[in-house]
Amino acid sequence: MDPIMDRLDWVDIDKWIMGEAIIGSQLDRHLYEICERIGSRWAGTSGDLHAAEYIREQFESFGLVNPHLEGFDLDTWDYSHSSSRIVEDGLELTVQPMLNCPSIDLTAPLIDVGFGMPDLIEQLRGRLPGSIALVSEPFEPFSTQKPLPDRLTELANAGCAAAIAVDGRDGGRIEYLKATDKRRHERAGQVMPHPLPCVQTHKEDGIRLRRAASEGKSINIKIVSRSFVTPAFNAVAEIPGSTMPSEHAVLSAHIDTYPDSPGANDDGSGLVTTLEVARLFALMAKELGVNPGIGVRFCAYSGEEQNHQGSASYVQKHYGPETPPRFCLNLDELSAGSMKGMVVQMPHTQQVVQNALDDLNEGLQCYTMPLLEHMNDGFSFTRSAIPVILLWRWRFVGRNSASDFRAEAWDTPDKLPMGELKEYVAFIARTLLRLSHVPPSSWPANPETAPAIEDRLESELGTVARTM
Ligand SMILES: [Zn+2]
Repeated sequence: MDPIMDRLDWVDIDKWIMGEAIIGSQLDRHLYEICERIGSRWAGTSGDLHAAEYIREQFESFGLVNPHLEGFDLDTWDYSHSSSRIVEDGLELTVQPMLNCPSIDLTAPLIDVGFGMPDLIEQLRGRLPGSIALVSEPFEPFSTQKPLPDRLTELANAGCAAAIAVDGRDGGRIEYLKATDKRRHERAGQVMPHPLPCVQTHKEDGIRLRRAASEGKSINIKIVSRSFVTPAFNAVAEIPGSTMPSEHAVLSAHIDTYPDSPGANDDGSGLVTTLEVARLFALMAKELGVNPGIGVRFCAYSGEEQNHQGSASYVQKHYGPETPPRFCLNLDELSAGSMKGMVVQMPHTQQVVQNALDDLNEGLQCYTMPLLEHMNDGFSFTRSAIPVILLWRWRFVGRNSASDFRAEAWDTPDKLPMGELKEYVAFIARTLLRLSHVPPSSWPANPETAPAIEDRLESELGTVARTM
């Protein structure tokens, strides 16, 4: 342990944090306010703004420094109508547009393209121009996984006029999807046009559509939507560093949700955990006289579900004029499973994080992700070569079944494992405090550059990021 960390009484600090995170927990109160009373928070809507204001007020009540909202212009989208019917028999089917789907009113033959993999597209090539493709959203189980946006692009290239993606889960559920891959965007936060108009349906109507396609029937799809620019707001506050005030780290989560979703797991869980860690840090300074070594900025972003526009705007506004943070620890979908450790995007940070985890003495591990993760706000930092730390929890082992609920109306707070979330709060506070006290000389120099990151992204296009 380095001399600065050595000066703190970690046993007393850890006991205080564990006690306050569990006995003093305010997770319930925040979740009720954000996910129940405010509810859905599609970026740029009043729910999103109310939640940003609530978070700013909480930051202020904890006694954090400079709690404020930072506005930005959000490239947004919504829809007012979505319907579909089989032309020959008039049967109405449930469809919902993929995010950013343009308006369409189209009648065309329906062609079942399976999972939309290249071999089947090749077999059907003569029939695809002008058709509506019916494609399974999950990965085809027997070949190398191919991202859905890439499969949709190949259908567009083959001449399809529109696509209907079928959700893989039972029970009328439809999880909002995107038709574009953020790794193909020229800059963080960009919104790209659909390769072709794409809608979604649930598994049960997908089965009816498969039958209709096999009988050579046609389908009508009507979507009325609009794209426009509207103001949106990130909420930001900080606690100054006691030993290295010129440096800081970021702890963040996102405020916004998918349309009509209360967003409990995604990302109410990360948001209330950020609020709790902020409260613990502020209270710890008052009650124990213990402060972080470098400053900590608490950021709650809008626009995550809309191509990370809030975090992209935050990074662009601050870093360049100001020194970038030592790292960004981003929290998203925390109800996923028991804690296993942390993952980093850049190998030079792995050992420093591992040292902090070792100091907790709980057998937690830090790994470097083999691919750049583009599915959360950390991606805006990664694209500026700022080190990102994420929690490593679920993708392979011990995933909670409730973590299957994300981009839909059923992502409700009753599914959150509250005991586990309280442990997350304590774990993150203890680890972040330790990392804040690592002196600059103990961090290896950051060898990454934004152009090198872009090259790496280019080489990873078409792959499925099986991370965490
Ligand atoms: Zn999220």
